[in-house]
Amino acid sequence: MKAAVVTHLGKPLEIQELPVPEPGPGQVLVRMEASGLCHTDIHAAHGDWPVKPQPPFIPGHEGVGPVQAVGEGVSTDLVGWGHRPDGVWGRVAIPWLGSSCGTCRYCVSGWETLCESQVNSGYSVDGCYAEYAVADAGAVVPVPEGVSSFDAAPLTCAGVTTYKAIKVARVVPAERVAIFGVGGLGHLAVQYARLVGGFVTAVDLEPDKLGLAHKLGADQIVNARTHDPVEEIKKAGGADVAVVLAASAKAFEQAYRSLNRGGRLVMVGLPADNASINVPIFETVLSGISVIGSIVGTRQDLSEVFALHAAGRTQVIAEPRRLEQVNESFDEVLGGRAEARLVFEF
Ligand code: NAD
Ligand code: ZN
Ligand code: ZN
Repeated sequence: MKAAVVTHLGKPLEIQELPVPEPGPGQVLVRMEASGLCHTDIHAAHGDWPVKPQPPFIPGHEGVGPVQAVGEGVSTDLVGWGHRPDGVWGRVAIPWLGSSCGTCRYCVSGWETLCESQVNSGYSVDGCYAEYAVADAGAVVPVPEGVSSFDAAPLTCAGVTTYKAIKVARVVPAERVAIFGVGGLGHLAVQYARLVGGFVTAVDLEPDKLGLAHKLGADQIVNARTHDPVEEIKKAGGADVAVVLAASAKAFEQAYRSLNRGGRLVMVGLPADNASINVPIFETVLSGISVIGSIVGTRQDLSEVFALHAAGRTQVIAEPRRLEQVNESFDEVLGGRAEARLVFEF
């Protein structure tokens, strides 16, 4: 199979011919139809974070396609295309959460994303920048008929992550939600914030991304290169929730300062070098501010994301690329030139 491989952290990826992996016990083999490029894959390939992946590895955690084969202990009913008795079309999505233990306090309470024994697709195990990938049968999520593989790919991380961020922020109608960074994640965050009735302010540095945010229903757009987002958001009444999806510590500081009393700062973006921000204690206490870290979403969250999309409630903005374009695609994302998401098609 063809795969894009990180051979050395910080070096361009190599396209290699590798043997198709064999599904082990409890695993499925997925034939990739679409595989999204998440900014996390760039952080992974660059070794940006305190916990580094070990090369060589195949990145990618937005992989979608039919199950081609199953390992020991997995029902062969999963294999191939077609309707299932429960109406599910035979495709699955491979998310960031490659597996979790299933028995710890987090796993049994619907917080498997916090499991301390988790495995991460495209980071601690090979991921989806390849024609085939193996994955834990219990971790993959069925993709319903009404969702194309091309759309399902960005929903598998960008969708579920921002959906969960809006959930944990407990947004209620008529609250103002500021979205800092309207790239792959942000273009979906704008839509989920609106779905729950929020007024949305979109903040980015790129006019085209702000234009897209406006088209997707943002009520206010702010270019942080030319305007102070804190001032602009305060003029509009301040933010009740600020979700930060930019890989820039500055955006986190601005998001914090744009909050109203009772405000919630949701940290999602993961800037390099374990960046930190200054959270003034007095102000945080007296204003009743919450600071929340949010990591992807559960399998149930992803099913909900797919159901909303199948019902026509969300729009995925993505452009197709070939796997051979992986290095140019990374540059496009880093340069802010991608409209929203890039998706490798096979
Ligand atoms: P992206 O590159 O598509 O989008 C980032 C956006 O932020 C771009 O539109 C960029 O122009 C904008 N931006 C950059 N600096 C800014 C600033 N100072 N102010 C406002 N906007 C700014 O990336 P993405 O795929 O959407 O991922 C975003 C971040 O989220 C990455 O750090 C990624 O690793 C992280 N992430 C976290 C989770 C999680 O579960 N917490 C999941 C997926 C991705
Ligand atoms: Zn991701
Ligand atoms: Zn667990």
